[in-house]
Amino acid sequence: MSLISAQCISKVFGAARDPVVALADISLDIEEGEFLAIMGPSGSGKTTLLTVLGAMSAPSSGKVIIDGTSIYSLSPDGLADFRAVRLGFVFQQLHLIPYLTVIENVMLPFVISTDHGADRDCALGALRQVGLESKALRLPGQLSSGEQARAAIARAMVRQPHIILADEPTGNLDSGTGQDIMRLFQALNERGHTIIMVTHNQEAAAAARRRIYLRDGRIA
Ligand code: ADP
Ligand code: MG
Repeated sequence: MSLISAQCISKVFGAARDPVVALADISLDIEEGEFLAIMGPSGSGKTTLLTVLGAMSAPSSGKVIIDGTSIYSLSPDGLADFRAVRLGFVFQQLHLIPYLTVIENVMLPFVISTDHGADRDCALGALRQVGLESKALRLPGQLSSGEQARAAIARAMVRQPHIILADEPTGNLDSGTGQDIMRLFQALNERGHTIIMVTHNQEAAAAARRRIYLRDGRIA
C-alpha cells in the first residue's frame, strides 16, 4: 500500500451559487521515500492540494489515507496530533519568530505537541543536519536568507517526521541559494524522508524524483 493515497479529492470554496473548484477529482499515490514536485501555474490548486495532503484542510469529497489512516476521519485533536508527529512543514514565508533564537525556533514543534519531550538535543541534531549548529544561538535576523530557510527546515524536521511538505520553499531565495536548499532536500530524501514540494520553479523541480502538473485543479 502507498504511504499516501489521495482518492477522488475535490475541494470547492465559496457559496453554492458561486463555487470555486480548486481541486477536481484528483487521485494520487505517493510511495514511501519519494521526492515529489507538484507544479503548475498560479491558481491551479497546488497549495490547496498540499494542505489537503498535509492534514490541514479537509477535502469537500474524497479521502486521504496516510499509513493506513483515513486522516480526515480522525477527531480534530487526533488530526492535530497526527500533523504534529508525522508531518513537517516548510512554507515560502518561513515563519521564523524574530525574537526567539534559532534553536528556540527549532524547538517550537515540541511546545505545541501533547507529547512533551522538549529536547534541545533534538533541536541541535536537526540544526546539525542542516549545517547550522554553530549558529543556534543567533536570532533569525542574524542569518542570511538561505540560513533562515535551513532553520525553517530544521524546525520541520525536529520531530523526525516521515513526511516533509514544502510550499514554494525557494520562492524567496536567489537561484544559487535555492539550489543549496534543493541539495539539502535531496540529502534528507536520501536519508529516508518522503518529500512533497510545491513549486513553479523548473530548477527546483528538477531536484525531485517525480513531477506532477496541475491545471485547473486536475492532474494534467
Ligand atoms: P496555487 O497554489 O496553484 O497558486 P491555490 O491552491 O492557492 O493555487 O488556489 C486554487 C484556486 O482556489 C484559486 O482559484 C484560488 O483563488 C482558490 N482558493 C484557494 N484558497 C481559497 C480560499 N480559502 N477561499 C476561496 N478560494 C480559494
Ligand atoms: Mg500556492
